[in-house]
Amino acid sequence: RRVAEQVSDVLALFERVCAREEAELGRIDAIAGDGDHGQGMAYGSKGAAAAARTALQDGAGARTLLVRAGEAWAESAGGTSGALWGGALTAAGGVFADDAGCTARTIVDALDAGIAAVLRLGGAKVGDKTMVDALVPFRARLSEAFTGDNASEAIIEAATTAREAADATADITATLGRARVLGDKSLGTPDPGAISFSILMTELGLHLG
Ligand code: ADP
Ligand code: MG
Ligand code: MG
Repeated sequence: RRVAEQVSDVLALFERVCAREEAELGRIDAIAGDGDHGQGMAYGSKGAAAAARTALQDGAGARTLLVRAGEAWAESAGGTSGALWGGALTAAGGVFADDAGCTARTIVDALDAGIAAVLRLGGAKVGDKTMVDALVPFRARLSEAFTGDNASEAIIEAATTAREAADATADITATLGRARVLGDKSLGTPDPGAISFSILMTELGLHLG
């Protein structure tokens, strides 16, 4: 199968997982934020998967497909996480070439580029109670666990670390984003963006296995 088809399959997977998790992510965001994170992730991933299918029909390669999918995610989702996920997909696309293959290393480099884009665009630091609290330990664990050909296992392992870190955000008070205005209301509830990221990475790792 073409690399672009495999990338499109991953975006279709994200669409299914976000639809499955929509209510729970909305419930968490309603306690700590404004309640729309499930909807944002569902709309964003749906828009991205649709853009990917259209790009495939146009004969686009993986790089072009991911750039278009990222733009569609941001537009379809609205909201902070939509802009960040969109920027992450577009940055991940920069790692691919339209006419080249994909190795385990390409996948890990694409995740790394996506994470770097979120850090750059969002400007959040670890401890601000955002998805960054899951992204940073995920990235560190991934680079430790990756030996050159075990992308699936390394991603599953890093996603477990990300989930633990996401759960641990329940113990901190939000300082950024919409949750900020609600102050201590977020205490006891994890950050929804950190939770959704860890779920998607677990599913990605299983899918690649
Ligand atoms: P909005 O906050 O606009 O309603 P969502 O509810 O979809 O958007 O997304 C909220 C999530 O976005 C938060 O749970 C957090 O993980 C993430 N987020 C917010 N601000 C930032 C930031 N500056 N950097 C990284 N992630 C952020
Ligand atoms: Mg929200
Ligand atoms: Mg919102």
